[in-house]
Amino acid sequence: MPSRYDLTLAPDLDAGTFEGTVDVTLEVIESVTEIVLNSHELEVDEARLTSDDVEVEVTKIRTDDDAERLTLDLGSEAEPGSWKLLLGFHGRLNPRLTGFYRSTYADDEGATRVVGTTHFEPTDARRAFPCWDEPDLKAVLGFTIVVDEGLTAVSNGPEIERATLDDGRVQIRFADTMKMSTYLAAWVVGKLDASGPADAGGVPIRIVHVPGKGDLTGFALESSVHSLNWFADYYGIPYPEAKLDNVAIPDFAQGAMENVGCVTYREQVLLIDPARSTQEELLGVAETVAHELAHMWFGDLVTMRWWNGIWLNEAFATFMSMLAVDDFRPDWEIWNEFARGRTNALEVDSLTTTRPIEYEVRSPDDASGMFDTLTYVKGGAVLRMLEQWLGAERFRDGIRRYLGKHAYGNTETHDLWDALEEETGDPVRRVMDAWIFQRGYPAISVELDGDRLRFSQRRFLLSGDEDDTTWPVPLMVRQVAGDRERLDRILIEADGAELDMLAPDAAVVANAGASSFVRVVYDDELRSRIVARATEVLSPVERYTLVDDAWAAVVAGRASAASFVDLVAGLGEEDDLRVWQAILGGLGWFDRFLEGEEREGLRSFVRDLVRPALGRLGWEPAEGEPDLTRALRGQLVQSLAILGADPEAQAHARELELDGGGEPQLLQAAVEAVAADGNAEDFERYWQRYKGAATPQEEERYLFATARFPGEAEIRRVLDASVSDEVRTQDAPYLLARSTTNRQHGPTVWRFIAERWDELQDRFASSNIIGLVSGIRYLSDPDVVGEVEAFFETHDIPQNHLMLQQGLERMRQAAALRQRITPELVERFRA
Ligand SMILES: [Zn+2]
Repeated sequence: MPSRYDLTLAPDLDAGTFEGTVDVTLEVIESVTEIVLNSHELEVDEARLTSDDVEVEVTKIRTDDDAERLTLDLGSEAEPGSWKLLLGFHGRLNPRLTGFYRSTYADDEGATRVVGTTHFEPTDARRAFPCWDEPDLKAVLGFTIVVDEGLTAVSNGPEIERATLDDGRVQIRFADTMKMSTYLAAWVVGKLDASGPADAGGVPIRIVHVPGKGDLTGFALESSVHSLNWFADYYGIPYPEAKLDNVAIPDFAQGAMENVGCVTYREQVLLIDPARSTQEELLGVAETVAHELAHMWFGDLVTMRWWNGIWLNEAFATFMSMLAVDDFRPDWEIWNEFARGRTNALEVDSLTTTRPIEYEVRSPDDASGMFDTLTYVKGGAVLRMLEQWLGAERFRDGIRRYLGKHAYGNTETHDLWDALEEETGDPVRRVMDAWIFQRGYPAISVELDGDRLRFSQRRFLLSGDEDDTTWPVPLMVRQVAGDRERLDRILIEADGAELDMLAPDAAVVANAGASSFVRVVYDDELRSRIVARATEVLSPVERYTLVDDAWAAVVAGRASAASFVDLVAGLGEEDDLRVWQAILGGLGWFDRFLEGEEREGLRSFVRDLVRPALGRLGWEPAEGEPDLTRALRGQLVQSLAILGADPEAQAHARELELDGGGEPQLLQAAVEAVAADGNAEDFERYWQRYKGAATPQEEERYLFATARFPGEAEIRRVLDASVSDEVRTQDAPYLLARSTTNRQHGPTVWRFIAERWDELQDRFASSNIIGLVSGIRYLSDPDVVGEVEAFFETHDIPQNHLMLQQGLERMRQAAALRQRITPELVERFRA
């Protein structure tokens, strides 16, 4: 059992190598003749095992790179007691964004500078130093890092000592960490700058970044201070480290990583200029910061015993980040945005290839497979369902009980349910076990039965297959009759549930607040009552789910495409961003299936729907307007120009884009709109603007918009750039994925990916390969679908095998949808 690691590391950034020693304090529990620990792609050339003045000879050092293990054969038995294991090792900076890896940026003179940085979750600390790399083997870590003069090093704890060595290098020692898991260790070395510290209840917070970006740190500091204070208050426990550095890394495979005290991020979710950003981009920063800081307690202080529990770690941070951002910026109506993101989880979870939230994890691939939308979003959504059903305060008190009991320790999932059950007396464990160990979710049918409401459930599957799985479904039901209103909290069991009507003509909102992870199917009478009075009786998030459920019914073949068209045609008065996004999302699919005259018919329908809504807002932003209003205007302009092919909107967009400045929300819309019918000259301008972008957000905006260009030559250029140094490997998989959704050239892009498959595996981070193929679900042409299926019969993505199967099923669903509804759409939109 290791209890402490003293790690000294000396990286040579330019050579791309590092050497180190680790001195482990460990307890031998039973006599042993060999010691086994984790090590991967490291050369271990020294090993000594000592206890006070006794030394046991290490006769052989064996490494097994397949098992990622290091075995030390001992010349005699090591007896129970306290020992020190000293290992000397060296390695190379990893080129694929994992372990101790190489990132680069161009300095003022255009010279390439190297940053050495780490990413260990789930099982890559072993690539940086030999260790017992399992989450329940917590230990204190003491780091010493030796750097060339002029370089900065940051790690989990604050710097406590610095000395210049004889050769001029600088040796920096950091304060001990708390007792923690190895996957949370971190260090970053390079020529870096840091913002001045901001204070959050005595904890200094900095933003660390490559030089020249200091003017982009203010918003992240502000949201970090808010989050840290807010969580300390919510959890009722002080922040567990002495300082917090948020570090922006130029090349990063994930969004961010919750290393305690040393959180690492992609630049675009940390460094931002509010005056040049959209609401969505700002939200991306606030939400990511809140998510990572939620982990400082939930995940870092209290950690899952094993990787099967990673879902709870991520689900909880996702859920908590919503609560914190809702407090930070209530005007952003974050829970409505959450509902929009939840749609993707509902879609995946209605496939036959879905999985339970929690499953047994044996291999590193099993652990990698857990980082998906079902973990983050379905997991977060079932926690939201539970919180709303238990009540926010009772839920919070249960969380406090859990964290207080397990601080510095490890837990199983049921420990949380037990704490909540003890706190509330509700059957939390029974309810949650059903939701996390069973795949899928139910559609709840609501029917009028005299003066009663009758609720029943059936698993919702897009395939239409019958399935008799049931859940205890926590549900909030609101009834509105005249000026009276009633909210009921019910639990729908396998045999359904009933409820009294507030009045015979009451409007009934099942899944009030949209907090349960279900779809709702009303009978005709109940449905007509709420559709007729949608803006009056439904909140925006409830209207969002009304449209989203209607769309899901079309995809599942349970409702006609015309029924969706009729529903949205009646929602032209809508003024909520997310409801519009649901409407336009469905219409966007229709646009993929139509050509010629019928496509023109759809465009005309879109113009008739969107123009009046935009007319109410006006083209120009007003002084002091809410962010969501600005965002809605941007969405409407973009859809009017692209989906509606409206000449006025297109001309306006072109003007804005050429100018390159102005209100960010409109500029963002214009960048998308011009790309959608851009020419070669436009493309060159986009590429220049991508290269010369002043902020990470502008860089992303121009880069990803290039995937929309309609010209084949332009798309070829995007493909070539994706496998060159022109596009960072953190972005290229997603650029290729987005290009796969290009209406004209999706199949060309797919063939490019397939032809270069092996090369792309070597080029990109293993965790980004699944992102590379995430665009295939938009390929609905039967011939192309066949090609993709055939390709994956002989190729796999073992680290995300199930997500690949889900992508393939979604692709088949899209093809089936196209085949089923195109005749109906042709009929509907023919001139
Ligand atoms: Zn997380």
